[in-house]
Amino acid sequence: MNITMVGTGYVGLVSGTCFSEFGFNVCCVDKDLEKISNLNKDIVPIYEPGLENLIKKNKSAGRLTFSNDIDGNIKKSDIVFIAVGTPSRRGDGHADLSYVYQAAEQIGKKIDGYTVVVTKSTVPVGTGLEVKNIIKKVNPNADFDVISNPEFLREGNAIQDFMRPDRVVVGFESEKAKKIIASLYKPLFLIETPILFTDLKTAELIKYSANAFLALKISYINQMADLCEKIGADVHDVAKGIGLDKRIGNKFLHPGPGYGGSCFPKDTIALVKTANQNNSDISIIDTVVKYNTKRKSEMANKILKKLGTDLTNKKVSILGLSFKPETDDMRDSPSLDIIPILQKNGITISAYDPVAMNEAKKLLKNTEFSNDLETCLQNSDALVILTEWNQFRGLLPDYLSKYMKGNILIDLRNALDPENFINSNFNLVQIGRGREINQ
Ligand code: NAD
Repeated sequence: MNITMVGTGYVGLVSGTCFSEFGFNVCCVDKDLEKISNLNKDIVPIYEPGLENLIKKNKSAGRLTFSNDIDGNIKKSDIVFIAVGTPSRRGDGHADLSYVYQAAEQIGKKIDGYTVVVTKSTVPVGTGLEVKNIIKKVNPNADFDVISNPEFLREGNAIQDFMRPDRVVVGFESEKAKKIIASLYKPLFLIETPILFTDLKTAELIKYSANAFLALKISYINQMADLCEKIGADVHDVAKGIGLDKRIGNKFLHPGPGYGGSCFPKDTIALVKTANQNNSDISIIDTVVKYNTKRKSEMANKILKKLGTDLTNKKVSILGLSFKPETDDMRDSPSLDIIPILQKNGITISAYDPVAMNEAKKLLKNTEFSNDLETCLQNSDALVILTEWNQFRGLLPDYLSKYMKGNILIDLRNALDPENFINSNFNLVQIGRGREINQ
């Protein structure tokens, strides 16, 4: 079976590589010439654990190729995936479907023989049908079916998520296409992965509904953390206490500076837009979106308050810039909101991230980027943890006092163990812990 993955970003590259690992012939195509040229030189454009080795393995086995020849590859494919971006449209927050529709047109013009066209991008309800209309319009004789197969992988754990997903969702119209997609996912079926077959619109909605629910869960525990701080309770025990209830579950109950990343922010807004368009009440998610935006500035204010009134010569070390650990993805990372607010107040920022520095440099201005942790901490008045990379979890007072001038630690991910700081000179502020250490 020949597969073309249109769009070689996080999703296209990971899923294309994993399908080749299943034994299929996959060509990942992209209009970005540099990306493809780099991949052909074994330079992987993203940081994703395990991906580089898996690409190398399948490239040398001859099952995985990378190309800018989008048309030529579409022609010889049995299955064409659309895995292009669907960012928030400037101005109104609707999902920008221009890349999807452009890809559909390109696919329509070139498909040759029966082809299954699969939307893997996260797209609003009705997009699958529109993809079908576009293909029919540009090529009335095209022999094809459309499938909706939203992707649920998480950056930082993408290979494992793809290879052992909680479920696979497939929206279909024709039995013929359903059978082909079922054979594509046979390796997962064999390890008893639940595969949910449904209609196109339902599959599209499942993806938004899942992301919005997870965003809601994060916002809920963040509000509980706020309340814990006011009443002197511990949010970790609250999360544990409620998470042990199987109806609630213990995942996504970790407080932080607000969700970010390439999916939750844009997908929650897009879901609100879809509901509004259909005159359907979505006030719960509307509130989540507004609260999450507010949370980031509240976190910046929390830092400012801790630093006191004279901020002019203050230097703050920021540890972690990506929106979560194990990725270099900076899209909608809380660091992009919090750091500029601190800078506006006259604070000098020294920043360090184990892998996201190159991406961060493109987006954060007037920031001192340090190549290592020690340089980042040098002479700083305060340390702020924005991303819970493992390397930050073990930081201890003796080590920090070797480099830092001040004694303020603001841990917005609750990554540090408070026990380690009780008998130290450091004032440790975390989220929802009820009390500060050495206030
Ligand atoms: P991305 O921005 O990393 O990659 C998209 C790629 O598509 C880019 O390389 C771009 O050059 C390419 N492209 C755009 N138009 C093209 C065209 N006409 N022909 C060829 N290439 C084209 O995006 P991503 O993060 O991989 O996300 C893709 C989709 O998957 C989005 O809808 C996203 O919401 C969804 N998704 C993302 C994740 C994630 O963790 N990143 C998880 C699940 C779902």
